Amino acid sequence: MSALPGVAIQERRQQKTKKKEMDEFILWDYGIVYFKQLRRMFYLVTPNESCFENVNEVPHYIDESNSVFLTFLLTESIISFILADGIYRINDGITSSSAGLLSRLPVMLVKSVHLATYKWVHNNFQLLELPWNSPCTWFLTFLLVDLGYYWFHRMAHEVNILWAAHQVHHSSEDYNLSTALRQSVLQTYTSWVSNKVP
Ligand SMILES: [Zn+2]
Repeated sequence: MSALPGVAIQERRQQKTKKKEMDEFILWDYGIVYFKQLRRMFYLVTPNESCFENVNEVPHYIDESNSVFLTFLLTESIISFILADGIYRINDGITSSSAGLLSRLPVMLVKSVHLATYKWVHNNFQLLELPWNSPCTWFLTFLLVDLGYYWFHRMAHEVNILWAAHQVHHSSEDYNLSTALRQSVLQTYTSWVSNKVP
């Protein structure tokens, strides 16, 4: 959530050089940035705006999506409360949110393993260098990364040890947006190969 007014807003501020334009930097710009983050959440992006030469140019997609996700979650919970449909239970929501928070902790320990493995595979098994700014690369990698995630998720349901790490995600008796936060603390140890290496 912190990144909503953060990096993206600053980028737009820097684009406006004239003082008058700076003064006019108001709600409209926040709206544009928010809409862009909304599009990113649903993969409604063009190759042009989502191809980057250096990794440090890549936006913090997860951080930026937090505000959009939180808006949806609050809207859904308020509507559920008004309709009294029982879709949201406070205890279940707290459990899901807590699991989501805890699931981020191992990342501090294994992030360097992810990056070192990625670099090692890239250095030793790279078959060809794909042009980073080609739409063909964009479409190909879009499909391959999604295919990698499909197989990871399928294996997580069919291989016992992977299911042991994944079952927390499907342990809620409710089905609402807060359930998406219910991630396993052990998930990252089994998912990083399919998520990072492709
Ligand atoms: Zn699953």
